[in-house]
Amino acid sequence: MLAGKTALVTGSTSGIGLGIAKALARQGANIVLNGFGDAEGPKAEVAALGVKVGYHGADMSKPADIEAMMAYAAATFGRVDILVNNAGIQHVARVEDFPVDRWDAVIAINLSSAFHTSRLALPAMRAANWGRIINVASVHGLVGSAEKSAYVAAKHGIVGLTKVTALETATTGVTCNAICPGWVLTPLVQKQVDAKAAAQGLTNEAATRQLLGEKEPSMQFTTPEELGELAAFFCSPAGNNVRGVAWNMDGGWTAQ
Ligand code: NAD
Repeated sequence: MLAGKTALVTGSTSGIGLGIAKALARQGANIVLNGFGDAEGPKAEVAALGVKVGYHGADMSKPADIEAMMAYAAATFGRVDILVNNAGIQHVARVEDFPVDRWDAVIAINLSSAFHTSRLALPAMRAANWGRIINVASVHGLVGSAEKSAYVAAKHGIVGLTKVTALETATTGVTCNAICPGWVLTPLVQKQVDAKAAAQGLTNEAATRQLLGEKEPSMQFTTPEELGELAAFFCSPAGNNVRGVAWNMDGGWTAQ
């Protein structure tokens, strides 16, 4: 379905981004990976699906790095047809205690990076009259939780950016949508489970149950594979007129 197309997924050396990259590769898209840590393992996992794979280690908090990554993708694969803005970090503290440098980092990585990649990807998408921008937001793009001010602000912001991008491209073959996961068991969430276990003297299992029980009625994690399939749907012909949605996959979190 996506043979001959190129998907760039930010923050795809781990977790949800890698799950989405693999789902798009299974549809035949060539993949540009990005993110910190080991890139060779993720590159091999994607290449095993029979597509071409590239990697750029741009730091999503740095606009000049983002420009270099987009130039690398265009030079290597011709153009980015599918842009998945997924890179993200978390920091947990009350507003009055929130370190200013953490606030700036969360806003830069979770929100501003998507503005930079989108502004750089859109001209070629418009010229081809086909493109997909998928912003990985969160349930925290729709509702708040205590001690997550920067994250909730950034995720509400990216839902807003999604709507505006969708409106500006509404008469073209380019669509922009957001995905809003509830809890997904990735390193980002395992750190929050670990913090809960340490603070309350709980086992990993008890801390996990408590984390899910506070917010997610299904009492089960959404998986990177499920999120990857939703991204693939947005890229399919059936997604041609899905524009500006914030689609939650959250076990009922925001239905409450
Ligand atoms: P993760 O920590 O497993 O992966 C994050 C990825 O982003 C990694 O590849 C990491 O290297 C990369 N990254 C971090 N900082 C970066 C930077 N400055 N520049 C480039 N890459 C950087 O996290 P995840 O849980 O897979 O999260 C992915 C996205 O999904 C994030 O936007 C997150 O907010 C969102 N999300 C996660 C959950 C969840 O429960 N895990 C829920 C809702 C939304």
